[in-house]
Amino acid sequence: QGATVAQLAELLGVPANDIIKRLFLLGNPLTLTESMSDDLIELVADDLGRDVKVMTKEEENSFTFYDDPKDLKPRPPVVTVMGHVDHGKTSLLDAIRHTGVAEGEAGGITQAIGASQVKINGRTITFIDTPGHETFTAMRARGAKVTDIVILIVAADDGVMPQTVESINHAKAAGVPIVVAVNKIDKPGADPTRVRQELTEYGIIPEEWGGQNMFVDISAKKHIGIDNLLEAVLLEADVLELKANPDTFASGNVLEAKLDRGRGSVATVLVTRGTLHVGDALVAGMAYGRVRAMLDPKGNPVETAGPSDPVEILGLQSVPMAGDEFRVFQDDRDARDLADQRALKARIEEQNRVKHVTLENLFDTMADAEVKELNLIIKADVQGSIEALQDSLDKMDQSEVRINTIHAAVGAITETDVTLADASNAIIIGFGVRPDAKARAAAEREGVEIRTYSVIYKAIEDIDAARIGMLKPTE
Ligand code: GDP
Repeated sequence: QGATVAQLAELLGVPANDIIKRLFLLGNPLTLTESMSDDLIELVADDLGRDVKVMTKEEENSFTFYDDPKDLKPRPPVVTVMGHVDHGKTSLLDAIRHTGVAEGEAGGITQAIGASQVKINGRTITFIDTPGHETFTAMRARGAKVTDIVILIVAADDGVMPQTVESINHAKAAGVPIVVAVNKIDKPGADPTRVRQELTEYGIIPEEWGGQNMFVDISAKKHIGIDNLLEAVLLEADVLELKANPDTFASGNVLEAKLDRGRGSVATVLVTRGTLHVGDALVAGMAYGRVRAMLDPKGNPVETAGPSDPVEILGLQSVPMAGDEFRVFQDDRDARDLADQRALKARIEEQNRVKHVTLENLFDTMADAEVKELNLIIKADVQGSIEALQDSLDKMDQSEVRINTIHAAVGAITETDVTLADASNAIIIGFGVRPDAKARAAAEREGVEIRTYSVIYKAIEDIDAARIGMLKPTE
């Protein structure tokens, strides 16, 4: 990546000639439009008396602050529900929102923001209410890791379906533990054991069978087993030992944001560290402002929000994007500066368009990578093709580059596949299937490579050639 000499000059606010001069003295003569390596950028900046650290996209987005371990306090887990359409995601979130609420009150609960919190056994769990793996991976593609635990919901009368498999692969690619909710056990045709058996094929194995995953049988509609499910989530959370420092300036991520006619910019944010207060000056992505008011998930005004708390905030001067990180500043001016800097960087990035790995650049990309891995997403018209390709891949020499199939399924190449590829730096291979218009546009936008084939040996040939840097450019 890096930046060109001209871009670095703009970022540092120094004449480009100064940089060219330093480069020359350092024995690296470069012209205005040539790009500099990250090391060179840091070196030149240092030479100019500036402390610059080139951050990777991940470093920049995760804002790794240092906390003294003694300041860390336990925080609630943040949970996302995923599963096949109609398997009961919405019903489950609904049932959860009614947990611990007396009968009479239940009707009065309105969902105010895109997240909710529930209390069980005196402990809190935060749910992100925009369920589904699409949102989850779209956030991850933007560098936000806001989910600690995934609840995979599978209808016991329907079993494992395509989006169940997608959800599993999206959660696995993100390294998030999965608790399985086997839903609709009240239905006559329900077969919870079959669900358990089917899931073993995807590496999701019940604890009672010696595996890693907790399974809970529920009925979202009849409110059966909901407490057990929440307790399982808390057990999983205990294993993760989730902690954060509440006594510092707040930071976190934007879950969703919109422009409201009467209220202006409205953003739902999840605090991941520190405590957010009304009156704080903050930057979210490229948006900046002072928190004018905050609402909790029930729509009640609050003065503060701590780690794992979702709140709706008013007062930003523009609308940030879902997945953007936010951060509070002591000094209002610093906040404004960062927002401006971000806007400038975004313009530069737009020019440079982050390119993902492709089969053609694989060898060069791998040359300076620490872990040499090729991530693949395989879509095909029949299951047989997937198996045949997987078989050939398994037989390939993987001593130099390890090949991971992070998702394989029958069906056309969709926008969700592209989002997963974007978040995981993967290449999409299609067999007898093509991308739809939306997928093609998304791939173009994100620089994700899609390769389509009609014969297996051709795909294997290409991957094998790419592995050793011998792939011929395509026509
Ligand atoms: P989503 O598409 O995953 O959000 O699924 P929904 O929550 O909208 O549920 C789909 C359908 O299944 C709805 O008609 C629900 O009433 C029904 N449903 C959800 N959970 C249960 C359950 O536990 N038992 C029964 N019998 N029906 C359920």
